[in-house]
Amino acid sequence: MNPRIDKAIPAASTLGLGVNSPLRPFLAFLRQRMSLLLVWPAIALVVIAVLWSYVLRGLGHEERERGAELEQQAGAYAQSLVIRTRRSIDETDRLLLLLRHSWASSGNRGDLAGTLEAGIFSQQYMSAVAFIDRNGIAVTSTHPAAVGRYFGNRPYFVAQQHAVEDRLYLSGPLDAQLTGQEVVAFSRPLLTPDGRFDGIVLINVLPAFFTQHYAEPILGKYGFAAVARTDGALLATRTGDTVHSYRKPFLREPMPGRDPQGVALLGGRRWFADGRLRVVGWQPFPDLGLVGIVGIDEYSAMAAFWAHREARLAAAWWNSAWIMLAGLLATGVFVHARWRQHQMDALRAAYRLATEDAGDGFFINRPLRDRHGVIRDFSVVDCNQHGAAMFGRQAEELIGHRLSEFYRGELFERACERLCQALETGFYDRELPVEPAPDQPLRARWIRYKAVRANGDLAVTIRDISESKAHLTELERRSNSDELTGLPNRYWIQQFLPRAIARARAGGHGLAVLFIDLDGFKAVNDVLGHAAGDELLRTVGKRLKLAVRPRDHVVRLGGDEFVVLLEQVGSREDVEHVAGRVLAAFHDGFHVQHATHVLGASIGIGLYPEHGEDAETLLKNADIAMYSVKTEGKGGFCFFQSRFFEAIRARLETEVELRRALDLQQFVVHYQPRVDLATGSAASMEALVRWERPGQGLVGPDRFIPLLEETGLIVRLGEQVIDSVCRQLASWTRHGAALVPVSVNISPRQFSQSDVIAMFRNAVARHGIDPGMLEIEVTESSMMQEGIGESAVFSQLRELGIKLCIDDFGTGYSSLSQLQKLRFDVLKIDRAFVLRIEHPEGDTLIASMIAMAHALGMRVVAEGIESRRQMQLLRTLGCDEGQGFYFSRPVAPEAHRAPLARAWGGGAPLGGLVGACFSGPEACAADP
Ligand code: C2E
Ligand code: MG
Ligand code: MG
Repeated sequence: MNPRIDKAIPAASTLGLGVNSPLRPFLAFLRQRMSLLLVWPAIALVVIAVLWSYVLRGLGHEERERGAELEQQAGAYAQSLVIRTRRSIDETDRLLLLLRHSWASSGNRGDLAGTLEAGIFSQQYMSAVAFIDRNGIAVTSTHPAAVGRYFGNRPYFVAQQHAVEDRLYLSGPLDAQLTGQEVVAFSRPLLTPDGRFDGIVLINVLPAFFTQHYAEPILGKYGFAAVARTDGALLATRTGDTVHSYRKPFLREPMPGRDPQGVALLGGRRWFADGRLRVVGWQPFPDLGLVGIVGIDEYSAMAAFWAHREARLAAAWWNSAWIMLAGLLATGVFVHARWRQHQMDALRAAYRLATEDAGDGFFINRPLRDRHGVIRDFSVVDCNQHGAAMFGRQAEELIGHRLSEFYRGELFERACERLCQALETGFYDRELPVEPAPDQPLRARWIRYKAVRANGDLAVTIRDISESKAHLTELERRSNSDELTGLPNRYWIQQFLPRAIARARAGGHGLAVLFIDLDGFKAVNDVLGHAAGDELLRTVGKRLKLAVRPRDHVVRLGGDEFVVLLEQVGSREDVEHVAGRVLAAFHDGFHVQHATHVLGASIGIGLYPEHGEDAETLLKNADIAMYSVKTEGKGGFCFFQSRFFEAIRARLETEVELRRALDLQQFVVHYQPRVDLATGSAASMEALVRWERPGQGLVGPDRFIPLLEETGLIVRLGEQVIDSVCRQLASWTRHGAALVPVSVNISPRQFSQSDVIAMFRNAVARHGIDPGMLEIEVTESSMMQEGIGESAVFSQLRELGIKLCIDDFGTGYSSLSQLQKLRFDVLKIDRAFVLRIEHPEGDTLIASMIAMAHALGMRVVAEGIESRRQMQLLRTLGCDEGQGFYFSRPVAPEAHRAPLARAWGGGAPLGGLVGACFSGPEACAADP
């Protein structure tokens, strides 16, 4: 397992992720790259910090500007208050002067009403106007109740009384004696013509007089304006509409600063009754000992700024949020991209590792396009050592380089073409031969080239399949040809014949298939051994090649089956001609192992298109034709005919009937005696099976044994025959007949497909007979073929007490050594030799057989003795027993009820005797 992933397990499992969770590798990846998570948020934070510092600095600057502006305004307003209030004071003073003048000119009476009503002066803020004489008694007053009253102790009077010069006097805030109103008194001295004090002229004004120039629209509800005396007495204070009483002073400290004029930010209850913050400006009234004070309410004045500030801050917050979000998004995108990259790298590494082991060359190629998007080349993004080695280089020499640096000319074009095709379709997988060009960079003869599109790149694997290809070619060559003869084989013809038929169809000419089966090959092979058989087959192959035209094909299908394929066949005669030549090739016999062996061939011919339009049918029909040649006597050729099918069908029907016959036990056993030639008495009998075929009478074994052998039914028949023989022996015993042993023919198939020993043992036990009364006959040829001679079955049979006979001796190619090894009891010379006994040298052959058998300790039986002469000659040659029609035909067991131990005298005319002994129908024709 990847150690990195391993390390990530605890972390992943604490998240409750299963072992297979797809998140696990991702978390492991993140754990190792925490910086990936922090980079973008950190950048976002820095941007946010910059943004905030910019915004806050801007706001601070604006705030300061606004503050300065306010201070300026406060100063300006204070100045304006002073100027305008001064103007009002001067106006009031002028009124005082006017009143004094009228006082003097009217003879110290003072025309108050006249002067005031002249309308020159505003009386809005005037509370009272009066003349007070030198004694302090009010002479004239706008308040009639005041006239005659004493005011000589009032500060405005006292101050003028003691004044050294004629000047305006302004009192502090007073409570008017008559009205109780809060007022400020303006006074000027009345002077005698000689300049002495003569009383005062007095104007009481309401405090609002001093704040009448309150700039309402600018100062608003919370601004303030005040006029104070430099000695600390506050003459009037106004905020908004309200003019405050001196008894409840609004401004707690009348002089805002030590300087005669200035600006300051004041706030809290220390300064104002309402505790608000204000920018305060103050200015002195020249000569009057007064100060004008104006306060701008900071909050109201800055309201717009605060709103603006609020908006800017809100915007800053939003922007921060967006930047943070962008940071997070960027983190997501960044992490995703890096994760993909990581996965790709891991994949590449894993693939490289895997292919490194698998021996594949692995490349990642990236298309290089021109301005128009057309692919011009490919670059090698990655490759493993195996891949590089295929180009005879190191991986570093390939990575980062272009395809055109390795391939040139046509090779480059073809390589590009492959990659473009893979890019287009997403996949390319071919086995390609590597062109042996001088500038070919690839060092293989065959490659498997696989390309898969991945993220616009191509993952290419190249496998060197040169060896497996070579192996395959060799295999193909081998699978197409027969190893023994070097001829094309069955596989080859299966591929070739359909193409040949297609050519014949296209060209409108004929085609012939000659199916050849060797006659008698099996015997040679079995007797002389496989090496000799192989040599024979090789020779046959060569002769067949010589027998046909060079352009014809000779094929070995297997075993001793060959096919000659003739293309562009003109007429039947041509084919017959070739078939004749093939047969002639066998005329000479084959020299194998210092002896000449005669071998034949059966040839079946199938013609295209008459006998089949496809390969399978044509071959099958040629085979059928060959089979028909075989069954009709071998050693020839014939063309396929549809009636051959009939033969096959008949065979099938027979098979069905044979099965039924076995079920219904339609087989009967006849017995033919073997006569001791010396004594003339029956030495034993041979059991020969017959089929009582319904409607056809008795059918001989030659007509059904081969088919039973082919189908394996021979095993069942054998069992029935053994049982029948044993039952018959038991029956004869019961009837008190003088018994002789009975020999039973055993087919080689019975040895290989059934337990013959058990069969005999059971039958003997079942019928209670002596196994010594049984012999078995095995033909020489079959025994050699099936290799039964090698098996232990014969010794086991002998142990049971059963004797062994070699049947049909002389036809089976057995050798002396084999006979020695097998230790048989009886040797039966085949009828063919007995037939030739009267021919010159015929007897020599038999004599040597008899001598050999005797030397091996065997009794000799001559089969097929049909004449007295044959019998005599054989007796002369020392043959022990004879069997044949001369003595008796095989007859039904009922015929043997008469005593069997009858003598066939040497010179006696046996005919009559036989006739007397065997009363069955076959026995009648005993003596020819
Ligand atoms: P075989 O074992 O060589 O039997 C001898 C054959 O020669 C018998 O033919 C017999 O009728 C025939 N024969 C005897 N004397 C003469 C004669 O003087 N002249 C002529 N021309 N023929 C003679 P059959 O009965 O037709 O049997 C043919 C073959 O069938 C037998 O040859 C044997 O190989 C086989 N066969 C017969 N019965 C059985 C059986 O129960 N089981 C097996 N497996 N094969 C059997
Ligand atoms: Mg026999
Ligand atoms: Mg025989």
